[in-house]
Amino acid sequence: GRAKVVKFAGCYHGHVDALLAAAGSGVATFGLPDTPGVTGAQAGDTIVLPYNDLEAVRAAFAAHPGEIACVITEASPGNMGVVPPLPGFNQGLADLCRENGALYISDEVMTGFRTSRAGWYGVDGVKPDLMTFGKVMGGGFPAAAFGGRADVMGHLAPAGPVYQAGTLSGNPIATAAGLAQLRLLDEAAYAKVDAVSKEIQGLVTDALAKEGVAHRLQTASNMFSVFFTADEVRNYEDAKRQEAFRFNAFFHSMLADGVYLPPSAFESWFVSTAHDERAVERIAAALPAAARAAAEATA
Ligand SMILES: *Cc1c(COP(=O)(O)O)cnc(C)c1O
Repeated sequence: GRAKVVKFAGCYHGHVDALLAAAGSGVATFGLPDTPGVTGAQAGDTIVLPYNDLEAVRAAFAAHPGEIACVITEASPGNMGVVPPLPGFNQGLADLCRENGALYISDEVMTGFRTSRAGWYGVDGVKPDLMTFGKVMGGGFPAAAFGGRADVMGHLAPAGPVYQAGTLSGNPIATAAGLAQLRLLDEAAYAKVDAVSKEIQGLVTDALAKEGVAHRLQTASNMFSVFFTADEVRNYEDAKRQEAFRFNAFFHSMLADGVYLPPSAFESWFVSTAHDERAVERIAAALPAAARAAAEATA
């Protein structure tokens, strides 16, 4: 019964019209204003706030009493590069939502089954009202899911009045593939991914430091990314202040040496169980030239 949705600048929540404002990811990479085709009415109920700023959330609740349905956030954002929640931020969001009768929605599409077996929830333990999943969940097949509090889920048809369906909902092959993979992802698999991630992080930052390139490596469990700035990045405005042109030179040098990084300065780097010692050696071999290219790049 409430119309307004709070989201954070730089967080991406998929192709939902109302959530494409300041959406990070590809929207940020291409410098798009906001997305044409989304009408004023669709965007009008979306309140976009700076990430990691609880005061802004408190002020929004105060300015719109009884109107805010939910606050949606990436559990730990990866779509503006890796910008983890400051200590207490997610808990503060959950508390503010509860105090104001709004739902706290944790988007774990990127972090779910990746940052730990229980996603970012397994890292910070803050209990959301609703959670969303995708990406890792399907074991390479397209699959997504949402879930949460029983009383909220009870609003869905046929138990409740909210209709939700899709051609591929519950697709048997994607579901079977996802389940098979999740059963294989044991503690050893996560330990391996965490270790390889740390190793690559160290190689990247060493190579850049050797060339004197100002940078910040930010991590959220095994997710990480490099910002070409000396300053800590706490939100989307900070992320946009980096020297993204250095990333472009860095990226293309790596690609020329056979290493395909995520093609954006506003994207998390992901490692998987497939990254073995040989892969790490190739990355290490490609890094010195890429760091030099980043150092010599001009805007
Ligand atoms: C990729 C992504 C989505 C969108 O998932 P789709 O399956 O493409 O709809 C939503 N949220 C986050 C955090 C994502 O990274």
